[in-house]
Amino acid sequence: MRPIDYVAAQDMKGALEKLGSRPTDAVPIGGGTNLVDLMKIHVQNPALLVDINALPLSQIEEADGGLRIGALVRNSDLANHPLVRQRYPVLSEALLAGASPQLRNLATVGGNILQKTRCSYFRDVSQPCNKREPGSGCAALQGFNRMHAVLGTSDKCIATNPSDMNVALAVLDATVHVTGPKGDRKIAFGDFHLVPGAHPERETVLQPGELITHVTLPASGFAANSHYLKVRDRASYAFALTSAAVALELEGKTVKSARVALGGVGTKPWRSPEAEKALIGQPADEVRFKAAAAAALKGAKPQKHNGFKVELARRTLIRALSQAAGLA
Ligand SMILES: Cc1cc2nc3c(=O)[nH]c(=O)nc-3n(C[C@H](O)[C@H](O)[C@H](O)COP(=O)(O)OP(=O)(O)OC[C@H]3O[C@@H](n4cnc5c(N)ncnc54)[C@H](O)[C@@H]3O)c2cc1C
Ligand code: SF4
Repeated sequence: MRPIDYVAAQDMKGALEKLGSRPTDAVPIGGGTNLVDLMKIHVQNPALLVDINALPLSQIEEADGGLRIGALVRNSDLANHPLVRQRYPVLSEALLAGASPQLRNLATVGGNILQKTRCSYFRDVSQPCNKREPGSGCAALQGFNRMHAVLGTSDKCIATNPSDMNVALAVLDATVHVTGPKGDRKIAFGDFHLVPGAHPERETVLQPGELITHVTLPASGFAANSHYLKVRDRASYAFALTSAAVALELEGKTVKSARVALGGVGTKPWRSPEAEKALIGQPADEVRFKAAAAAALKGAKPQKHNGFKVELARRTLIRALSQAAGLA
């Protein structure tokens, strides 16, 4: 048996001190729905759990015409908040497509952003995995890789980022606010997660001892024409094979601006400037949506078992765009 210390932080200063006291093996715990799972199967082995649930990070507030969302806001509270449903429906849809009601009641915004990949080899300590154990190899490259990524992969790791919420935050141009031993900083959502490259163990730009405090969303003109579409093996309680978050601003039948992100196919939440470029200034019709989907998947590199994802992602995106534009 391995001893694990637990401390419930009462304020931010205390939380940061505790995290800083053992920088390599202390971790914060939010809802615990991902961390505790991984501790049970010995994939994550922290020596100190710093419970951050008493910190004042559970508010959703209007800020600068947009929203400020505390890192401890539960996924269900965020999905059902009137301002989110009204102004950022794509975020509400993405959250409600994830996990189960019970899990969403516990899961926090910070924990969801940082949830680990569902690669089955990552979760099996008998298998080589560069993300879990740098330099050990990648069992998925030669193994069963149906669920894995086709965009942003490397010869060291092909795991997807599993979060539905992250795909919506990518499309909404969110900013992640963090605090740590060196003070506060903010990071554009698109820069927060990293592609694996040679170092799959580095998943985000968060530094040891840093905490996510909140996320901000800028004012949005996309509420009327946005959509999150998730395709999965079962209708609920399953991670995405493919998903798309899209947001359009229409002027008559012309696309004035467009935001596109894909889930289930990328090693990070996959924003597609290529698809957006193919849409802006064009008629909102199926021809352009097909062109945008082709552009989004142009660089896809399928593995042995996940070639179907390329076509499925194209179709997911075309359908999401059609629904956002009111054509489907
Ligand atoms: C059966 C099952 C099905 C699921 N299905 C889906 C799905 O379909 N779609 C989907 O998107 N998700 C799904 N999930 C994942 C779920 O959304 C995540 O487990 C949840 O969002 C994690 O949030 P949490 O607060 O519980 O995180 P925790 O488990 O508490 O933490 C996760 C990680 O984040 C760190 N952390 C937490 N908060 C902070 C913070 N404020 N600052 C810095 N670090 C922090 C922790 O140290 C840990 O490393 C599923 C989970 C389960 C168990
Ligand atoms: S794909 Fe990534 S997470 Fe999965 S086994 Fe390979 S290195 Fe590990």
